[in-house]
Formats: sequence, structure tokens, C-alpha cells
Amino acid sequence: MTTHDYPRIVVGPPGPRAQAIVARDAEWTSPCYIKEYPLVIARGRGAMVEDVDGNRFLDFMAGIAVSSTGYGHPAVVKAVQDAAANFMHICGSDFYFEGMAAICERLARLAPGPGRKRVFLSNSGAEAVDGAIKLVRHATRRTAIVAFKGAFHGRTIGALSLTSSKSRQHGGFGPLLPDVHHVPFGNCYRCEYSKTFPSCQLACVSAIENDLLSRHLDPRDVAAIFVEPIQGEGGYVVPPPGWLTAIRQLCDRHGIVLVFDEIQSGIGRTGRMFACEHEGVAPDVLLLAKGLASGLPLGAIVARESVSTWENGSHGSTFGGNPVSCAAALATLDLVQGGFMANAAARGAELLAGLNALAAKYPTMGQVRGQGLMLGIEFVKDRATREPNKALVQAIERKAFEKGLLVLSCGVSTLRLAPPLVIDAGDVTIGLRVLEEAIAEATTEAAAK
Ligand SMILES: *Cc1c(COP(=O)(O)O)cnc(C)c1O
Repeated sequence: MTTHDYPRIVVGPPGPRAQAIVARDAEWTSPCYIKEYPLVIARGRGAMVEDVDGNRFLDFMAGIAVSSTGYGHPAVVKAVQDAAANFMHICGSDFYFEGMAAICERLARLAPGPGRKRVFLSNSGAEAVDGAIKLVRHATRRTAIVAFKGAFHGRTIGALSLTSSKSRQHGGFGPLLPDVHHVPFGNCYRCEYSKTFPSCQLACVSAIENDLLSRHLDPRDVAAIFVEPIQGEGGYVVPPPGWLTAIRQLCDRHGIVLVFDEIQSGIGRTGRMFACEHEGVAPDVLLLAKGLASGLPLGAIVARESVSTWENGSHGSTFGGNPVSCAAALATLDLVQGGFMANAAARGAELLAGLNALAAKYPTMGQVRGQGLMLGIEFVKDRATREPNKALVQAIERKAFEKGLLVLSCGVSTLRLAPPLVIDAGDVTIGLRVLEEAIAEATTEAAAK
């Protein structure tokens, strides 16, 4: 095992320097920010984050599944420095540069499914979602969109209309886009039809057709179904085998465009380039962002040529496809394909095995699930009732932070593990050890209350 100089807590976080920055931030930043816990980063290296007081953390959240190649990977830093020194902007909507053509070709060739693809570059995930809403409406001349309960697609008005993970994200912002219809996701742990897989025969998919599309919404009015192959913010929920295939078949029966939002699950995180590849299903439109450029802002709409029918001048962006971001994305893909994706599969299997071993000891761990390095633990008050245990997740997250492990929650009561794809076997061991300490302490304290 390699030696690691982290976690290293020299002063209980937030230390004095961190506290000063948190106080300044609180005075001037918009109150809408979540600020999950008072981590004040000074620098990072690989999977290690160091705060302004010299504390070192093992990062199991990657800035919300973004820092795919870890912090400061030399190949990414060099690509960014070289691109920045040449030119930082030209506007790819109006002019040309090699990096933009190269990343679009690369993504088009990587995207699953037959036929040519065309790529549009955005600045963010939400902007890719918004662009895709426009694209599918333009291509089909239909208006309705079907999305899933628990989905997270972003926070701009268009993307927010598809989002359905927390009502606070909607509250006070309406009315949102009309003609958006939310149906239950393939969440077998909390089946809305109180059925069990596989005897359910995917009743949740049949219901889209037999209920929504036959009683309420004419399928000829539906432009697209937007779906995350693994729900991210909604709780790292993995649908059952065959579920995505059934959604694909439903779309094909009605000429509905299928959009996979792989903004969180894509770019090697699950051990395959795209999570949909585990199921062997290809979308018509694939959306990417988060891990694509190792932290530089870049999103992508990768669409089949048959859907990419919007004409010259119908969509664009001043900053989208920034040259420095394109360079970072090319370097990121080299690294992901050059070993980090395989590492995500191998380390993910170790982590999953370790989590399952923990679940055998701690009955509050209701379900462990995920693929590669996209892993979730849903905490419950009682395994029989499956009542969510939100307070316990918050306590574990905070304790892990104080012990030098960065994790994040998602959904109602799920702890997510989304480390940079660079973690090694030693990081897995450290992460599991600190996580167990946090779970044990939080559980004991909760029981004493
Ligand atoms: C984060 C996320 C988005 C939104 O991306 P932003 O860059 O925050 O706008 C959309 N879809 C999914 C699945 C995400 O995880």
C-alpha cells in the first residue's frame, strides 16, 4: 500500500482561517447557496484536498462529481496553461479553432449508438439541458416532455421544469415550463406501485404508456423523454435491469426522442464511459458536463444527426466551448480512457464490497447501490419500514468532514460517494475506515438522544 499524508487534521475544521473566510462569504454571497459544510479549500493534489488551515482531507465527492482526474493533474494543468497562453476566447459559435473541432469529433465518436452524431458545446449542465429541450422541440415540432420524479436536470427555468428532486428548488419560481410530465423512476427500493422486481414486469414503465400516454397526454405531442440512467441528486438510484431498454422501446413505438442526462454519470465515473453502456442502451441525445473537463466549465449536447436538424443561427453561445475548457476536456478524456475509467471500475468494486461489509454491521444502512465510483448508501431508521433517516446522514457527513473525509448527501437520506477517478486502493481503505468511524459514532449518538 502506498503511503498517504492524509487525512491530517491539525486544527478542528473550520479552523481560524477558514472561519474568517466563511464569515466574509456569509456577508456578501447570495443566501441561496447551500454551503453543505465549512470546507475552505486552499489547494488539492490527486484525491487530496488541503484547507486554508493546513488540514488535509481525502476527497470522496470531487466537487459534486466534477474533479474527475483529481486536483492538479499535470497533463490537465499543462493543457490548460498552453491553451490559456495561446488565446482564452474567440467564440466558437462564430469562429473556428482546432480544440473545438477535436472535442466535438471525440465526443461524437465516443457516444454510443449507430450513426453520426453532432455536438453542441455549452458552459454548464443546465445549459446543455435547456439546449436539448430546444433541440428536441425543434426537431419534432412537438412540445411535451416527460421526466422522472426524483430527477435533477439543473436550475435554469427550462432545466428546473424537468427537475423534481427537492421542492425547495421549485418554490417561488413558478410558473415553470408548461407541458412537462413527471412519472415514477425505476426506484425498486421505494416502488410507487408497491411491487417487487422482477415480478412487477416493470409496471412503472407500462404505466407511462397505459396511464399517462393513453388517458392524459397524446404520445404524438411528446417531444422527448429525459432520463438520468442513474439518478444523481435524487439519491444515486440505479434502475433495475431492462428498465432503460423498456424506456428506449417505448420511445421507439411513439417516435419520441430519448435524452440521457449523463451530466453526473458520464465520462468514466461508473467504470464505463457512459452509464447507459452497462445496459447496452443508446439515447438519441446524450448530455454531458460535470466530469468532462476536470473542473473547467464545459457541457455538451451530443445528438444523432437525424435529430440535429436545427438550422444555422437557431442556437448558440458566446462562451460555450471555451478554448481552455476544450483543451482540458481533451486531456481529461485521454486520462479517463488511458486508465482512470478502468480504475473507477476496480476501485468502485472494492469500495462497494467494503460498503456491503459495513451494511452487514450497521442496520441503519438500508441499501448500498451504484456502479463504479458512483455509490450511494441510503440510511433508514428501520430496515423493515425503510423510513428515511435524514438526520443520521447529516451527522455522518459532518463527522466524516471533521475526521478528514469529504462526502456529500443526496436524495432524502442517501450518502453519496463520488471520488475523483484517480483514487488508489489505499484511498479506498482510508475512506472505508473513516466512514465506519463516522457511521459508528453518529449511530451511537443518535441512539443516546
Ligand atoms: C449537476 C447536474 C445538472 C446541472 O448541471 P449544472 O452544471 O449545475 O447546471 C444536470 N443534470 C444532472 C444529472 C446533474 O447531476
